[in-house]
Amino acid sequence: MAVLTHPDPRLSQKCDEVQLDCETEMAEISQLVEDLIVTMRKENGAGLAAIQVGIPKRVFVYDNSDVESDQTSATAIINPVITFASEELTEDDEGCLSFPALYAPVTRSQKVVVSGYNQAGEPVTAEAEDFLARVFQHEIDHLDGITFVMHLPDEAKMQALREYFDLHAG
Ligand SMILES: [Zn+2]
Repeated sequence: MAVLTHPDPRLSQKCDEVQLDCETEMAEISQLVEDLIVTMRKENGAGLAAIQVGIPKRVFVYDNSDVESDQTSATAIINPVITFASEELTEDDEGCLSFPALYAPVTRSQKVVVSGYNQAGEPVTAEAEDFLARVFQHEIDHLDGITFVMHLPDEAKMQALREYFDLHAG
């Protein structure tokens, strides 16, 4: 699937909850999850939200491969909600498949807990720190139409957007 890039207006839209009790929709979501994982891998992303391929549903996938055992793995969370976000914050460079080649430092909670559902419609909870906590916050933002540059202070945001347009001009 093709990944939408800024300034595609669909990246600003708030996505709809998945109807967990609708079999037809859940079957579509299972297929979507497979496609999202393939696309995330192809693009070397750490996470991918459904809206980034133009589907306005509250679903994202993330890579949780085990580097040490060389075991690749990816997981989807449907209708994710952040149930805990630490007051402790960290700043690190962040990028997004929808902003190719742009990186900027974003402040996020160091730790989060996310609740949601898997493709079988069963409740799941995921705890994450540091990089993965950043991925969770970034992807869940996408479901509300928020991209990482919106977290930058005004001047840094202007600079990042200017850099982005320069990178992709012509
Ligand atoms: Zn992104």
